Amino acid sequence: MEEDISIDLRILQSHLDGMLSRVKHNSLTLKRLQAFEMRLLALSSLTEMIDFILDETKLLFDLEIVSLYLFDPTNDIACYLESDHYPYKDRQGFMLVESDALFKKFFDYSHKPLLGIYHPENYEQFFLDGDQIPSSVILAPLIRRGKYIGSLNLGSHRSDRFIHTMATDFIEHLASVLSISLENTLNFETMRRTSLFDPLTGVNNRRFLEQRINEELDRSLRTHQPLSCLFLDIDYFKCINDTHGHQAGDQVLSQVAGAIKKQLRSNDVLSRYGGEEFVALLSGSDESIALEIAERIRSSIEALLIQFGGQEIAVTISIGAATFIPGLNATKSVADTARELINTADAALYQAKNKGRNRVENRSGILSTLDLQKA
Ligand code: GH3
Ligand code: MG
Ligand code: MG
Repeated sequence: MEEDISIDLRILQSHLDGMLSRVKHNSLTLKRLQAFEMRLLALSSLTEMIDFILDETKLLFDLEIVSLYLFDPTNDIACYLESDHYPYKDRQGFMLVESDALFKKFFDYSHKPLLGIYHPENYEQFFLDGDQIPSSVILAPLIRRGKYIGSLNLGSHRSDRFIHTMATDFIEHLASVLSISLENTLNFETMRRTSLFDPLTGVNNRRFLEQRINEELDRSLRTHQPLSCLFLDIDYFKCINDTHGHQAGDQVLSQVAGAIKKQLRSNDVLSRYGGEEFVALLSGSDESIALEIAERIRSSIEALLIQFGGQEIAVTISIGAATFIPGLNATKSVADTARELINTADAALYQAKNKGRNRVENRSGILSTLDLQKA
């Protein structure tokens, strides 16, 4: 009898120990989740957020595999990431999808996370670019206002890590916090870009250039890659306005901007600097590449015949080019170098205008380059 009671007590004690250890574990997880959320809320850009979600979720849940899928029907997210030089196509675990059919197929039924043993025929689509195959998974839809933002997909090598009957409160909570943060950041990125955008020509405005040129120069110093700048100005544009009207002038501006953009790479920066003036920043381009691109732009615009109100309008452009070559000892501030790079390209443009227009001129060996290289 006494022995029975002592066995019962031991069993009870072991249950209690088990419960206490689970409570301890849960409160630790809760603390880590709170710390994760605090850090997430402090992030200010989409690229930081993607890296944070992919890297930190792994640590938070002690997992081997994490993937983040984002629904990008309009290609906006791809453009934002490209313009920020974020190598999203090579980022392991990150995927942009143009259609939400995948999310609808898996999550429309309950809008809740799915978990269990990994069946490739079902779940492979959520782990497409990884080289590791999970044994059990949890797929959490990221939804805001009834619309899919994407999904967070977690995989473990342990087959008993995510079992069908497990509670999903933690992951549901995490998915809602991630959805709100991603939605906010995406809205912020859109707003930031809209205020830096010229609606007439569809390219960025001068404010954008003034921000970006510093970032591009920093990058150039970091990577030891040259940065070229083109200053472009439409020839006799006043005359086009006077002859064909202001609306025709607007049409010319928009088509010229489109033609310039066509000759640039997706990570080059093009902005409308003022009325009929544009500035392009060609990252990683030395003087000879910049001149080649400038010449391509010049001849493509000469070949344009712009149709407006039954008339054909011919247009030409003059271009000034300058190149910054990073030296080891920078003696000037980035802001001063930025100003000098634009001014030098502008001076080359002035020369192109003086020499008869519809041409490219180059100011090689620009002061900023030499000053940064000497000392
Ligand atoms: P140059 O070959 O020396 O560059 O001569 P230009 O006539 O192009 O240069 P100028 O600076 O004398 O004239 C620029 C004109 O651009 C004057 C201005 O009315 C016109 N302009 C500026 N912004 C706009 C715009 O948004 N739409 C239209 N249609 N015209 C604009
Ligand atoms: Mg001008
Ligand atoms: Mg002009």
